[in-house]
Amino acid sequence: MIKINTSHILPDTPYLLDGTEPADVLELPADADPPLAPAGDITYHLSAIMAGADLIVTGSASVPLATVCARCLDDIRVPISVKDLCFHFEKVRDLEVDLTEDVREELLLAVPSCFYCSPDCKGICPVCGANLNHASCACDKQQAEPEPDSAAPSPWDQLAALNLSPEKPAKKPTKPAAKKTAAKKSAETPAKKAPATPEKPAKKPAKKPAKKKSSDAPASGKTGGRGKK
Ligand SMILES: [Zn+2]
Ligand SMILES: [Zn+2]
Repeated sequence: MIKINTSHILPDTPYLLDGTEPADVLELPADADPPLAPAGDITYHLSAIMAGADLIVTGSASVPLATVCARCLDDIRVPISVKDLCFHFEKVRDLEVDLTEDVREELLLAVPSCFYCSPDCKGICPVCGANLNHASCACDKQQAEPEPDSAAPSPWDQLAALNLSPEKPAKKPTKPAAKKTAAKKSAETPAKKAPATPEKPAKKPAKKPAKKKSSDAPASGKTGGRGKK
């Protein structure tokens, strides 16, 4: 157990706590994929101070794990370490504080989902299974991943054969809504720019009625001679 008795912490003086802890406390799952097992003890370097009645602990912890490389499947040993531990416990004056669970959680959070023996691990040959980090082989690597045969029927062909297109007559596409709104907008805006001048009266003079020729006027003087004999 990683424990600190706060009554041992002097005011204004960091209390240093270095040590090791059996890695069993990590309780790593037995069926982890990739397999994970402790390869040594947890090592910790902690510094504790009191802030009033509160305890503040900072420091680092690490543990080596045994696992396998995700590319070449070699057994490897990887260090898991956390360098910025920081724990805060409230109102623990003159109490013994157990840090084991907090350190455990921080270490487990630092475990990556997969591991590599080295950043440039060459992996294994997909044909003969040789570890290419240790030996090269003469296998044709293309053979392992054959090119997809374009002539072979695709499982999607049957799906394509189904006529899933809608039978309904194609409706005339409705006009884009954007245009409509634009038109509406312009219609709604008050016609401020329209000419304010009142409509001028038509200047075209009304055609005067054509003067009637007085040809049909009674010819005077011709009727006067009737009575004379
Ligand atoms: Zn590897
Ligand atoms: Zn090979």
